[in-house]
Amino acid sequence: MPDVLPLSRRNALRLAGIVCALAVAAAVWIAAGIVGRTAALDDVRMQAAASMPLAASVLRSEIAKQRTVPLVLAGDPDIHVALSAPTPARLAVVDRRLAALAATTGASVLYLLDRTGLTVAASNFSEPTSFVGSDYRFRRYFTGAIAEGAAEQYALGTVSRRPGLYLSQRVDADGTALGVVVLKVELADVESDWHTSGNLVFASDDRGIVLATSRDALRYRTLHPIDGMLAAGIRESLQFGGAPLTPMPLGPDRDGLTTLGENGGAPRYLALDQPLGDPRLPWRLHLLAPADAAMAMGMASARRQALALAAVALTIGIYLVRRRRRALARQRNLRRAADELERRVLERTGELREANGQLKAAIAARGITERRLDELRIDLEQANRLATLGQITAGVAHEINQPLAAIRTYAENADRFLARGDTPTARQNLASVVGLTTRIGAITETLRGFARRGHGEMETIVVADALDGAEMVLRGLLDGAGVVLVRDPALATLRVHGERIRLEQVLVNLLRNAVEASTDRPLPRIAISAERHGEDILFHVADNGTGIAPEALRTLFTPFSTTKARGLGLGLVIAKDILSEWGGDLSAESRPNEGATFTLRLKAAP
Ligand code: ADP
Repeated sequence: MPDVLPLSRRNALRLAGIVCALAVAAAVWIAAGIVGRTAALDDVRMQAAASMPLAASVLRSEIAKQRTVPLVLAGDPDIHVALSAPTPARLAVVDRRLAALAATTGASVLYLLDRTGLTVAASNFSEPTSFVGSDYRFRRYFTGAIAEGAAEQYALGTVSRRPGLYLSQRVDADGTALGVVVLKVELADVESDWHTSGNLVFASDDRGIVLATSRDALRYRTLHPIDGMLAAGIRESLQFGGAPLTPMPLGPDRDGLTTLGENGGAPRYLALDQPLGDPRLPWRLHLLAPADAAMAMGMASARRQALALAAVALTIGIYLVRRRRRALARQRNLRRAADELERRVLERTGELREANGQLKAAIAARGITERRLDELRIDLEQANRLATLGQITAGVAHEINQPLAAIRTYAENADRFLARGDTPTARQNLASVVGLTTRIGAITETLRGFARRGHGEMETIVVADALDGAEMVLRGLLDGAGVVLVRDPALATLRVHGERIRLEQVLVNLLRNAVEASTDRPLPRIAISAERHGEDILFHVADNGTGIAPEALRTLFTPFSTTKARGLGLGLVIAKDILSEWGGDLSAESRPNEGATFTLRLKAAP
């Protein structure tokens, strides 16, 4: 996957995310609404189910309480007397009793009818709306009581125009009806109790007509349409005055609820109904619990909770996504840094390898140069020796000529002695010849050795031997120049570390220079002395020649510095080089016109 998505693709992803989130939010909104409404309805149903028995018992107990009053009055002797032998005084007694009783029992009116249905006494006898004198023979509670002993009827008062439940009881004497006691209870307290419960409660009779109700407007409305004939009969009986007996605008709702109202926005109720449970009243009790507010509240609260939960989930989701994104970015950065590091290491390694290669090449080149230098130096040393030999050839010839001339003389003399027969002397001369040839052999052997290259291995050198060799090589030169060579006796026992042939070469170089510097001096003389200095031995080669000028002294050991017409200026350089190789040194000091002294420092050998 590429690190960075193209902008359009990222935008598309973001848009898809937003659409998804909105879809989820909508789904959550709808689902939470359904859940919230169902839960709210369950609550409403539970509360309604709990309220219903309460509402029923309030009505039942009120009726039951009032029902005893006419029953008791029907057996009362005063009532009997007032009905069987009515006098104004007796009826006035009954009036007062009825008024007192009505006040204590809560009945709205208590009254007494004679057997024709005419009111003879009433609790409201003193009021303008007094029932006394009113004829109620058309009322079913009268006819029912006369016929069956007791009757009950809900109706609108013809005088008071107030509705109420009429409870009637026949008054009998010796098997004949004397009249009827009637109690009217208005049920206003019951209705107000129902009203305060917050529910819509009403009772309907067996024809479906609403009687007692917590909402006055519903009174005398019907649960369903009523047959026209029946309605006309009811109106004629004046039971409900002129009430039109129109059906209530009840309608079923898709949630199992009931609407109450004419238009579409009618409030909805959860409707329950049950028989009142009074054996003498075939009423049904209806309870309509308002559902709209509860459902709206339930839905809103469930939606709030769901949205809060969704918001928390979304926040956690966003946090997790961001965290993962950050972790991925961190990983990418780390990988990038690691790659960069690796790249740099590789680059640096490459540079180092290259530098190493260059170094190796330089070392190899240097090795070659050094080897070449060594070879050159060896060649130079050899050239120096051969050149020295060349220069001292005359001296050598002289050195050899002398014994050769002596041999010649000895041989001639031997010949003469033999001729004379002096054999012993001749033999003596011949022995001398042998001795001289030995000497010549020694000279040529020394020269050959000097011409040879060194074998490169350190050895212990008896300094006197090396000096002998050098002196022999230079004998002719020394003699030719008339130079006196003085050797310190201490030299005889000294031994040093080095190579015999190369030490001879050093000494030959130094002595030859000394001879050449002192040739034209009076009484030329070279003195060789030695002293011990710790682990070292110092040799001094001092002459009384021309000496060395101070400026020449400074460049004495640099190559090609020479004052001689045919000189190379390499002798001292080579000598110093050889001694340095052995861990020693060569130095010079000079008093101009008094001579020069060269000092060799060498490692002493045991
Ligand atoms: P070359 O003998 O070929 O010149 P050297 O290196 O042997 O080369 O000597 C360098 C120079 O040092 C000589 O030319 C000479 O001038 C000077 N020199 C060396 N030894 C002596 C000495 N004993 N007395 C005076 N000068 C000397």
